[in-house]
Amino acid sequence: MCGIIGYLGNRKVSEILLKGLKRLEYRGYDSCGIGVVDGDKLIIKKGAGKVDEVSKRENFLEVEGKVGIGHSRWATHGSITKENAHPHTDCKGEIAVVHNGIISNYRELKEELIKEEHTFKSQTDTEVIPHLIENEIRKLDKPQISQEDYINAVKRAIKRLEGTYALLVLNKNFPDLLLGVRNENPLLLGVKEDECFLGSDISAFLEWTKEVVPLEEGDMVVLKREGDKVSYSIYNLRENRDVSSNRKKITIEWDIETAEKGGYEHFMLKEIMEEPEVIKNSAKVSKEEIEELARCIRDYSRVYIVAMGTSLHAGMVGEYWFSKLNKLVIPCDASEFLVKGIVDEDTLVIGITQSGETYDTIRAIRYAKSKGAKTATIVNVLGSTATRISDITVMMGAGIEIAVCATKTYLSQLMILYRLFIEYGKIIGKDMEVFEREIERIPGYIKEILNNRDTIKKVSESLKAKNYLFISKGINLPNALEGALKFKEITYLHAEGMSSGFLKHGTISLIDENMDTVALVPPSSSNLFRSVVSNIEEIKARGGKVVAISPVEIEVVDHLIEIPDVLEEVSPFLYAPVCQLLAYYKAVELGRDVDKPRGLAKSVTVE
Ligand code: GLU
Repeated sequence: MCGIIGYLGNRKVSEILLKGLKRLEYRGYDSCGIGVVDGDKLIIKKGAGKVDEVSKRENFLEVEGKVGIGHSRWATHGSITKENAHPHTDCKGEIAVVHNGIISNYRELKEELIKEEHTFKSQTDTEVIPHLIENEIRKLDKPQISQEDYINAVKRAIKRLEGTYALLVLNKNFPDLLLGVRNENPLLLGVKEDECFLGSDISAFLEWTKEVVPLEEGDMVVLKREGDKVSYSIYNLRENRDVSSNRKKITIEWDIETAEKGGYEHFMLKEIMEEPEVIKNSAKVSKEEIEELARCIRDYSRVYIVAMGTSLHAGMVGEYWFSKLNKLVIPCDASEFLVKGIVDEDTLVIGITQSGETYDTIRAIRYAKSKGAKTATIVNVLGSTATRISDITVMMGAGIEIAVCATKTYLSQLMILYRLFIEYGKIIGKDMEVFEREIERIPGYIKEILNNRDTIKKVSESLKAKNYLFISKGINLPNALEGALKFKEITYLHAEGMSSGFLKHGTISLIDENMDTVALVPPSSSNLFRSVVSNIEEIKARGGKVVAISPVEIEVVDHLIEIPDVLEEVSPFLYAPVCQLLAYYKAVELGRDVDKPRGLAKSVTVE
């Protein structure tokens, strides 16, 4: 999910690639590499470790040549090793590819290619790409192929890929060409008269050009050198037509720091805005592992989810999903698990940890293992401790998250759990089609909410109380808890989350002008809808101010943030971004250090 950079021009490319990779470093990575064509040679240098370490060890800068590609990897398939670092090549070492994203049908493609006698050197999903291109070229059965033959072969190969990808293709037989494709992962084109750049974000090449052509999904860019000039053309693989004239060049006035944040003021907002894209990735990653874990959920009589903080809230949503299928999945605060967890050989313990290093979650998984339980982890960082100690590792595919407070990774965890719910339903013979269809639609719902962020900002700014309650019922109760957590974490204002039913049993006595309520009103089809609305009325009757996040209008409330009216099972994906934005705008208004709230760390590796 990390960084790619490509260059075709008249300068020493290894210097450009190294600087570009350094610029992309903030996105996180575990290994890196470059591929350069110099004369009639394709030179690959790569390794595991930091950009500086690898580039020194492998001596990146000794490479000459004026066309090349670079990659910083955030592993999703295959461990963190030199072999798995990008670029990946075909059998003959002529074609090199760097890729960000996930090729979800890579297993089928790999099997097919192995039958056709391709030899694989890595465990990555990416490596199928250079072999597929090689295969298409082989099929032409010509001793010499033209530039056009080659470009068409790449097009045919790319059309076989399923999943998400931004990728660059280099071929030593065509040193005057560099190809790039964008499909649900970011890729931008930077242009100048005598050189062109391709990068995962603008910061990768901002030092050299401010002229940028943003690419659309399905776009394939062909960079071509003719004499001293470099030109580009863009072909859309979905529409099967040249779209060069439809893609407008823009001039970027950002500095590097703004560029790293994608033009947003904070990483937190950037990461919230990435949610539709992240959800698409998480909808595709770890297919086999999810199937295996769903079978285990069926086969083990006792199933726990152990997690902390935001991950625990995701696990609690999971509990509601599974309860719809009559399966008890118990979410447990991992730091309490050693005290109350009942663990034996018929127990499955699923840890959820973004970093894979959360101390309490790791300890709970280790404890479960020591008692003979089956263990699994849903995690974002391959190679982390959790992945090493668990029997099954399910990668989330959310990419690096820089802001301390979790936003896009929460949505990603929800997507993995939602897919587990669907998979489990299918294997116990339930018709899950209606839920499966929604997977495609969820990114669109989230986009709609994010487009409405000005309203959320206004509502947030109108809240002046010092204390806040976040309430809901049913599957969105964990979102109310998460909403309160996010809010207090970055605004430093007191917030509590609870079920709206629980409110009457004590807390309602606090309602006054110093305590505002955010109510997550269930979708209109839910039988809990009325009940939450009456709880809102009880608050209003006591003079409390209420903001409703609701799919339908509710008269009594002070502010309404409308969201799409969806199936109850899908609704958790929608309330979460609203709560995140409410917290974000309040924290900005109060001048808080949004990306690094006081006293907190991204991954809590201590007790
Ligand atoms: N899926 C690829 C891999 O694991 C690319 C990961 C990335 O985006 O860095 O190597």
